[in-house]
Amino acid sequence: MPRAPQLRIREDRLKSLLAGINQFGRNPASGGFNRMGFSDADMAARRWLAERMDAEGLVVRWDAAANVFGRYGDSERACVMVGSHLDTVPEGGPLDGALGVAAALESVLALRDAGVALEHPLEVVATSEEEGRFGGMLGSQAMVGNLDPQWLEEAADADGLRLRDAMEAQGFDPGRLPEARRAPGSVKAFLELHIEQGPVLENAEKTIGLANVVSGVVNWSVRLRGRANHSGTTPMALRADAFAGLAEIAIAIPEIIRERGTPHSRITIGKVELQPNYPHTIPGQADFSVILRDNDPAIITALCAALQERIEAASRKHGLTSGLTEHSRLAPVDLDPATARILSEEATALGLPHQVMPSGAGHDAQTMQALCPAGLIFVPSRGGVSHAPAEWTDWSDICAGAQLLLNAAARLASPIV
Ligand SMILES: [Zn+2]
Repeated sequence: MPRAPQLRIREDRLKSLLAGINQFGRNPASGGFNRMGFSDADMAARRWLAERMDAEGLVVRWDAAANVFGRYGDSERACVMVGSHLDTVPEGGPLDGALGVAAALESVLALRDAGVALEHPLEVVATSEEEGRFGGMLGSQAMVGNLDPQWLEEAADADGLRLRDAMEAQGFDPGRLPEARRAPGSVKAFLELHIEQGPVLENAEKTIGLANVVSGVVNWSVRLRGRANHSGTTPMALRADAFAGLAEIAIAIPEIIRERGTPHSRITIGKVELQPNYPHTIPGQADFSVILRDNDPAIITALCAALQERIEAASRKHGLTSGLTEHSRLAPVDLDPATARILSEEATALGLPHQVMPSGAGHDAQTMQALCPAGLIFVPSRGGVSHAPAEWTDWSDICAGAQLLLNAAARLASPIV
C-alpha cells in the first residue's frame, strides 16, 4: 500500500477555516449559530467557502441543491468525497457540520501543500439542508437521487415556509434538483468527520468513534382526548385527565425498552401541549411527540407495538381517546464495513484510542451510503452537549479526528509515490 509521507493537519489553518465559516449566523447575545437551510446566513457561509476554495486553487462547483464542491486533482476517475454540512439548527453550536467541512478542506490543503499526486481526485463537499428544517437531508439526498417528488412539493418548515419558496428566494430552481444526482460509480467513497453529539466517547476516554450503523428513527404525533373540567369540583375518580394518561405513558418508557429494546433503543417525548393549559382546569387534551430510535428494524417494530399498547391501555384507564400520526419512519443504515476497517487501521497507526459505535443521530454519511461506501468519524463532545451554543470539542481531539480524516482520505485516493 503506497503511503504519502509526512502528511500533517495544520491546526492554525483548521482554526481559521472553522472561524471563517462561523462568522456567519452567530447570535452575539446567546453565542448560538443560526444558519438554517437556505437562510441568508447559510448561503453567505456557502459563498465564503466557495470563494476560499477557489482562492486555494480548487475547482469549485455548486449543484442544483446548493451543495458546494471543491475538487483537487486532475484525474477523471471516481472522486473520494470528504465533508459535512454547513447549515445549523436554530441556536446551534459551532462544530456540528462546520467542523466536518473545515477539516475536509484542511485535509485537501495539507495534501496539496505536501505536493501529493493522487490517482483519485478529492472533493470537499459542504452539503445543504442536512438539519432537516424542511424534514429531510436535501443536499445528500439530491446527490444520491432519492428525493420523493411529492415530499418536495409539500415540504415546509415549522413556520409553514415551503422548501420550494425558500430555494427560489435564494435563486435555486427546485425543478432542477434531479440534476444534482451523482452518477453511480462517480464517487469512490464518502468520509465525514462529525462531533459525537453524545457523552459516550468522553465517558470511555476515547479520542475517536467509528460509526458502524446509523439508528433508524420513527417520528409520531399522539393526541389524547379527555374532558376539560373544574379542578376543584371534579372528583378524582370522575376525571378524564389527558395529562394523567400522558404521564403514565411517559413513565412506562424505561420498562418498554427493558422488555423489548436494546441498549441502543431511545424513546423521547420531547414536545408536549396541554389544552387548555390552565392551572385550575383538568387538561382535556394532550398532544405530544414521540421520537423512537434503534439500530434494528425488528426491534423498532417491536418497540412501536409496545408503545402503542401502552398508549391504548393508558387511554382506557383514564377514559381518554387516542389518535396517532406517523410522520416518518427511517430504517437503520449500516455503514460500509471495509471503510470502517480502513479508518480503524489508520486510527491505530496514529495511536488514537478509538471504538466502534452506533450513531444515534442522523448524518449525511447514512444517505451517501446508498451511492458509495461511506465512513463516519466521531470526535468527543464535551459534556455530551450538542445543538446548543455550549457544544465543544477539545482542539487536541479535533486535530486527531482531522488527521485521521486526512490519512484515510489520502489512502482511499491512492497517492502516486
Ligand atoms: Zn450534523
